[in-house]
Amino acid sequence: MSFLDRFLIISVVLVASVFPVELFPNTGPVPRGGDGQFSGKQGQVVVVAIPELKDATSVKGRFLGRTVTLFPNPAAGGMGYIGLLGIDLQDEPGAHELTVDAQLGEQGRHFSYQVLVVKEKFSVEHLKLPKDKVDLDEKSAARWKAEQEQVRKALAEESAMRLWHTGFIEPVHGKRTGIFGSVRIMNGQPRNPHNGEDIGAPMGTDVMASNDGVVRLVVDHIFSGRGIFVDHGLGLYSMYFHLSDVLVNEGDLIKAGQVIGKVGATGRATGPHLHWGMKVNGARVNPYALLELPFPQNPATARPVFAAPSLLAPEESNPTAAGSDTR
Ligand SMILES: [Zn+2]
Repeated sequence: MSFLDRFLIISVVLVASVFPVELFPNTGPVPRGGDGQFSGKQGQVVVVAIPELKDATSVKGRFLGRTVTLFPNPAAGGMGYIGLLGIDLQDEPGAHELTVDAQLGEQGRHFSYQVLVVKEKFSVEHLKLPKDKVDLDEKSAARWKAEQEQVRKALAEESAMRLWHTGFIEPVHGKRTGIFGSVRIMNGQPRNPHNGEDIGAPMGTDVMASNDGVVRLVVDHIFSGRGIFVDHGLGLYSMYFHLSDVLVNEGDLIKAGQVIGKVGATGRATGPHLHWGMKVNGARVNPYALLELPFPQNPATARPVFAAPSLLAPEESNPTAAGSDTR
């Protein structure tokens, strides 16, 4: 039994003891959530596994209107399917259903899981600023809208092939600010939550790709400045913003650890830092969640994770000290 299997069985047993739902019904159609439970906090990534499934032609999950693609578990010798379920930072806390449909030749199999979304405590900051510092003028507002649409279109198509492998890399060794998910309320109006993590580092510091992928978009946007969007396949994207330099082109195949740009302060930034974001099937997740995935160690694919313990020191969690976005 692999580490992942053990982990999941322990997780399911632990959750099952909290939620009195019958895990293995004897007969009849699968009741809602009857195949088991998963749980995770807002902004986290849950590894979903169906250990008993084999030789499927396609395995697709649906969760809160998003599609989750499952793939054969590389660590299980042809048995079982796994997938990454991203929990958006604004997904409603509570129990939701994850349905999975597997195609096995002519036959189909349907699974239903209960996913418990646990509320995360994100910080809220109230600011009062002069009106012209907060509201975009008409021209800037139109530009921002067009940029949002450009990103939406580029990320709507996902690569059907998985390019990422276990062992994600922190793209910059620097001061992690811990402001993922935080909300700024400016003059009483809530802004979009901060959908990534800011890492403070000197101007010109190397920015590495977090994993293998294809460069889907290179931009120069009003808020994010010079930025790179990397498609890692199966709906997983990483983003790198406020760069001073971009060293790749759209369509380039890149490797984990490859230097793709340099830290800067382009766009709306108070100082040099990297804004690092991750999207899993459309869900905005904390990129550091990818570094902590409970995958089994596979020497063929594992890579070092450069997360220095000092980055998590609580006294260093002041975002403005390291430079951050002003969104
Ligand atoms: Zn940021």
